[in-house]
Amino acid sequence: AELILTAATMNEQPVFIGVIQDLTERKLTEQAIIHAKETAEEANKAKSEFLSNMSHELRTPLNGVLGYAQILQNDKQVTTRQLESLDSIKSCGQHLLTLINDVLDLSKIESGKMEFTISAVDLPALIKSVYNIVLHRVNAKGLKLDLQMQAGLSRGIKTDATKLRQVLLNLLGNAVKFTHKGTISLQVLEQSEAQGRTLHFIVADTGIGIPDDKKQTVFDAFKQAQEGIDAGGTGLGLAISQRLIQEMGGTDIILESHYGYGSMFSFSLPLIAVSDDELSASEMNNTIAVKPVLAEGQDITLLIVDNSDMNRAILRQLLQGAGFKTMEASNGKDAVIMTIKYRIPLLLMDIRMPEMDGIQATQLIRKTLKRSTNPHKVVIIAVTAGVFPAQKEQILATGMDDFIAKPFDMEEVFNKIARHLGITYQQPEIAYQKPSADILVQSDKVRLEKEPLNDLLQQIKTACETGDISQINSLYKQLKNSDALTKDTSQKWAEMINN
Ligand code: ADP
Repeated sequence: AELILTAATMNEQPVFIGVIQDLTERKLTEQAIIHAKETAEEANKAKSEFLSNMSHELRTPLNGVLGYAQILQNDKQVTTRQLESLDSIKSCGQHLLTLINDVLDLSKIESGKMEFTISAVDLPALIKSVYNIVLHRVNAKGLKLDLQMQAGLSRGIKTDATKLRQVLLNLLGNAVKFTHKGTISLQVLEQSEAQGRTLHFIVADTGIGIPDDKKQTVFDAFKQAQEGIDAGGTGLGLAISQRLIQEMGGTDIILESHYGYGSMFSFSLPLIAVSDDELSASEMNNTIAVKPVLAEGQDITLLIVDNSDMNRAILRQLLQGAGFKTMEASNGKDAVIMTIKYRIPLLLMDIRMPEMDGIQATQLIRKTLKRSTNPHKVVIIAVTAGVFPAQKEQILATGMDDFIAKPFDMEEVFNKIARHLGITYQQPEIAYQKPSADILVQSDKVRLEKEPLNDLLQQIKTACETGDISQINSLYKQLKNSDALTKDTSQKWAEMINN
């Protein structure tokens, strides 16, 4: 409380007037504000830690999924059909990874700092890849999926393919989730107006619909209609999609729904068309060489340090496939002993491990080698699912030479090993495109190019594609003479050509 004294006069007699003001409330409010600020700061810190941990937990199993998909894609025994499934596993896994990153980036979206990567994209291929992913889920629920692409739709467009895919998958994913019978449809239209060309996307379903009083709020972060809450989910999808489309210069996502009958979400984007040449140039940039092979005569043993058997197995297979020898340790302590004993030139080191983590192990290796009378050069590359830039700097500051984020990209692993050890690989054996609808065609081509007989097959394939019957006939004769056909197959060929 505060006592305020005031001097005054009354009938010329001096008097003191005292006012007692109770400030307890004001003081309490002040304290409450300070407390709230501290709590908010702590909550923010806890949120960052939570996101970091969650991203680690999610990325680690995803590393297994993507790693094995990559290993199998390079296995020559895999059939074309299996390659198709692997492609789906890989694109789903990669999409999941993108989503994890986007959840982590939610704050960026909110502060308008989201980054966009605009490049030349094959629009029909993008739509088909989205369609293929959704088709699995639609089939599993016994629904129908209807895709309508306007005839003459532009092929090459400039957009952020990942973001557009994410929005379409979100809208279609919701449609599947909230529809129990009937059809999900995706319509893509193009329109020329005075202001320029526009692409329209419409996702409709015959599902449960959204009540009128929820139509606005479903676009807010973490807001769901009752059925959405019952179905799980985060309530983030529509909020993120809405912001992404707006940031890409598009319209608001418009919702029309009839509760109990179905919903329709639509949005438009400005269309920036690119030429076929520009498109192929951009696709070439996405082509990477995988499965490098160590040049002959190089004998290099790498140490894989990770407490997860699966993670070690993935790296082991990848590295051995390229001709490296590998050793393994499941904790930091063993890693230190093995590095010194076997004079290991390069370690791929996980950070979080029981007993001794990757950072302590690195410091111990550096210290031990410093004191050694016969030291050798050791490169230590951290392989970790932590993603924050601050963590990366922290890791490098502890004496590690480089950093690879999990789930890792094979190309990055091989490139970093080569750069640090100063080695080169032989010409890659197989070239493949980063996930694209054309992956099967591409790998078929490469397999065919391997032997002269396959050359012949390639020519037959081309002749079949162009319908050149006389060419097919003459190539068939060559093939028959090469003894490559069994009697049975040879007969079938003859019948087919005659028909
Ligand atoms: P989530 O799907 O994770 O709940 P979203 O932001 O994508 O988050 O969707 C928010 C809510 O909007 C959903 O929980 C659901 O209540 C409602 N909703 C979205 N799409 C549909 C749809 N096609 N049919 C019915 N309700 C939907």
